[in-house]
Amino acid sequence: MSSEKRSRREIIVVGGGVFGIGAIDNFIRYLDPAAIHITLIEKRDDFLYIPIDCRNLTEDVSGWFIRPYNRLFSRKPTLGQVKKGLVIGFDHEQKIVKLESGEVLSYDILILTPGCTWSDPNCAPSSHTEIMTYYKSLRDRVRQSDTVVVIGAGAVGCEVSGEIKSRYPTKSVILVHARELPLTQAYVSRLRSQVDRTLKKLDVKVIYNALGYDNKDGTVTVQHNSVGNMSSEDIKADVVFTTITPKPNTWFVPSEFKNAVGAIQVRDTFQTLIDPAVFVVGDANDISETKQALHATGNSFNVLRLNVLSVLDGRQPHVKYRTKMHALALTMGKYHSAGFLKLPIFGPTVLPSWLVRKIKGRDMYAKSIVKPLQYD
Ligand SMILES: Cc1cc2nc3c(=O)[nH]c(=O)nc-3n(C[C@H](O)[C@H](O)[C@H](O)COP(=O)(O)OP(=O)(O)OC[C@H]3O[C@@H](n4cnc5c(N)ncnc54)[C@H](O)[C@@H]3O)c2cc1C
Repeated sequence: MSSEKRSRREIIVVGGGVFGIGAIDNFIRYLDPAAIHITLIEKRDDFLYIPIDCRNLTEDVSGWFIRPYNRLFSRKPTLGQVKKGLVIGFDHEQKIVKLESGEVLSYDILILTPGCTWSDPNCAPSSHTEIMTYYKSLRDRVRQSDTVVVIGAGAVGCEVSGEIKSRYPTKSVILVHARELPLTQAYVSRLRSQVDRTLKKLDVKVIYNALGYDNKDGTVTVQHNSVGNMSSEDIKADVVFTTITPKPNTWFVPSEFKNAVGAIQVRDTFQTLIDPAVFVVGDANDISETKQALHATGNSFNVLRLNVLSVLDGRQPHVKYRTKMHALALTMGKYHSAGFLKLPIFGPTVLPSWLVRKIKGRDMYAKSIVKPLQYD
């Protein structure tokens, strides 16, 4: 580390996903490079906006959502750097982060934004070439298949099924779900019924009240679990996507920071319970809200920045994060959508599908999300 950099306070951000680049975009606007230096550590060559993985299964839209990181700090080049590497641990007492390469970096503030671990089609590898090959091979597999089985009709499962069936109406798409309607009870039944109707309109075969197990041999075992039907059957599948609830991607985080499901425990200031100089934003923290890119707004990053500055100044952070809204916008292909919005003082409102389609259907917000990468 150069002596110039050492005289500045060091902020390390682990993970350059939606929240990592969103936080840095906010820092670039407000922080002074004479006082602060930021290092983003990211294991991939490219930023990926993962909600578009579903559309990218049927149509090559990589150009919308895959961007290199090399221009991230171009507006204030001396404020920071992007380092490619996998973080394998940190020691909060010594204030160091350890990389797989053996490198060790010191920090004053550590911000963790490692997201969640997903299955296909949302687990792209690290190098640019591998990422492009990964998405192409998924597209090829879907194109060549007759039957696709999707396990789990949460938001991701509905989007994957809807995208495939919209693009390939003659393929058989079977969606297996543990509950009686798509999504979970966290969503109003009017919305769940609307999603159910849309899937049926697209001719997706939905098997409710059943658990699916990918046997990894071209079959899926479906275990029915409803009154009067506790049978099980094996169905043939050329491609299987398991889209059940992901786990926080926190394997490298010491256990005392985490709760029973691996989420990192934080206060409403985004500081961890264990160490006030370690912050967590995004999917990996234990704030009780649906884990969505939607919450990556200026508000959360303003809260983060102000509290980080307080810690650096030796003051008690006091700006509290509150979830502003609960919303869902589902696209099942370009022409079928469903969504709802719940603002603090209003009850939940199911949105007309044309409105969701207009807001999200075409590019799924990719353009605005990738803006901090400075390629557009
Ligand atoms: C198919 C799909 C559809 C979705 N649709 C929507 C939607 O419509 N609307 C919505 O609001 N949300 C949606 N989401 C959720 C949204 O994508 C996530 O909430 C959001 O991406 C979380 O951002 P994050 O920064 O916490 O994590 P991520 O975006 O996952 O980024 C984490 C980053 O950290 C890096 N990383 C992780 N561990 C390490 C490590 N140890 N060392 C170095 N780097 C590391 C990863 O490579 C990655 O770049 C969807 C998700 C999926 C999968």
